[in-house]
Amino acid sequence: MNKPAEIRHHTVPMWIGGKAVAPAGRTGDVFNPATGEVAKKVGYADAKTVDAAVKAAAAAFPGWRDTPPLRRARVMQKYLALMQTNQKEIAQLITEEHGKTLPDAMGSVQRGIEVVEFACGIPQLLKGEFSENVGTGVDTHTLRQPVGVCAGITPFNFPAMVPLWMFPMAIACGNTFVLKPSEKVPSASIRMAELFREAGLPDGVFNVVHGDKEAVDAILAHPGIAAVSFVGSTPIARHIYETCAQTGKRVQALGGAKNHAVVLPDADLEFAADALIGAAYGSAGERCMAISAVVAVGAAGDPLVKLLDKKARAIKIGPGTADGMDMGPLVSAQHRDKVAGYIAQGVKEGAKLVLDGRTQSLPKDGFFLGTTLFDHVKPDMKIYQDEIFGPVLVVLRKNSLEEAIALVNSNPYANGTAIFTESGGAARRFENEIQVGMVGVNVPIPVPVAFYSFGGWKNSLFGDLHMHGVEGVKFYTRTKVITRRWPHQDTPAPGFHMPTLG
Ligand code: NAD
Repeated sequence: MNKPAEIRHHTVPMWIGGKAVAPAGRTGDVFNPATGEVAKKVGYADAKTVDAAVKAAAAAFPGWRDTPPLRRARVMQKYLALMQTNQKEIAQLITEEHGKTLPDAMGSVQRGIEVVEFACGIPQLLKGEFSENVGTGVDTHTLRQPVGVCAGITPFNFPAMVPLWMFPMAIACGNTFVLKPSEKVPSASIRMAELFREAGLPDGVFNVVHGDKEAVDAILAHPGIAAVSFVGSTPIARHIYETCAQTGKRVQALGGAKNHAVVLPDADLEFAADALIGAAYGSAGERCMAISAVVAVGAAGDPLVKLLDKKARAIKIGPGTADGMDMGPLVSAQHRDKVAGYIAQGVKEGAKLVLDGRTQSLPKDGFFLGTTLFDHVKPDMKIYQDEIFGPVLVVLRKNSLEEAIALVNSNPYANGTAIFTESGGAARRFENEIQVGMVGVNVPIPVPVAFYSFGGWKNSLFGDLHMHGVEGVKFYTRTKVITRRWPHQDTPAPGFHMPTLG
């Protein structure tokens, strides 16, 4: 088996043309957030390195495009098996660099592997449509063809799962791919690239370049890239979308979130509180689908806040590799300080600080911050308006379902939301009226399964097509419509005027 020798090196390499490439030029630090130490270095790609990756992908494209989908699917099946066998190792790399607990990392890799599983069905997914006799002796059919070299730019919070939303679908559709993962968590991508090669993927079909803005700018400017998938914060998502639009690249850019959970008075509050605790503080709140705002309706408020407070205090915080931990550190010292700054801001703004994550007993080293709960938060407060992306849960009080729906719908983010209720009628109304891309009913983090598509609305997604599922196939293919006839002696001669075919 191809051992991951390269990623044990001090400097994480690029992956271009089917092999690890030592970086030349700028490097950055990769931290172990549980200790606060620099654990590795990672090379930052410049325009020349990005160009080398795009050239490798472009050279591999014609052969891979013409490989029958069934054969591509066989490579995906081998990749699926290798990803399953090596799931724990990838999860360990994630815990080392991101900080989330090992079981949490395992779960996220599993969700990503499910996209590989879905991509194994690509021959079925690529089937076109056919209409016989659209005119006398004329038939029409559609082809779904790959778009060319695609790029993916991904955030730090899911080092394997978010890249896996993209490249398996793109590659199964017959494209070749250049991935630029977050420079904070570079190793999982390299391991996934090695395993893909081991599965039989031809060299150059999948490439990984690391880096920061310089690498991203080079991707956006490269004329050889046909489509860009992005996941990250809203300002960068907007920038990616606008820049790609200017050069005519196909683009889907998923942004940030402020996900609300509406809790009605008829809900099972114990159940709701348990669900909300995991959704708010799991992965230290660094999930795009984390619940960061609870909208407590009417009499649900006081008992719910009491339960949330009790349960948030019981969360075990420590290194993600230690047994029995619920929550690890944040990804970096800067991010921890930024989140702590929001807690100070919330106090200044007059919200009621029920539980203060800054004053809890925490491991001394590393980027740890405790769980924070605010009550009586108002919509004009920064702690409500901004995506904090940390273990901070804010509770707003509303008097009715109408008021709760109006609040959620007035928020510029619209990634995910949930309602907790025993009432089918209330839940149905919520499903119908809420302007959010992914909705849970008594499900706190409504992340769709691989065969549905993932994506928010409004400032949580720029573009039209969501990731994976059938929308993923649409994004990574272009439709071609063929209209044909085979003239024979009875075929009327082509007319001069607009053909009507009837
Ligand atoms: P980020 O926007 O800082 O970085 C995302 C990617 O963009 C990284 O690869 C980074 O290197 C690159 N980048 C950063 N600054 C750039 C710049 N100025 N120009 C060009 N490229 C740049 O996001 P992050 O901090 O890594 O991740 C957290 C964010 O991602 C949160 O806002 C979270 O909600 C969001 N996210 C969204 C989803 C979703 O599905 N909508 C999923 C996961 C994460």
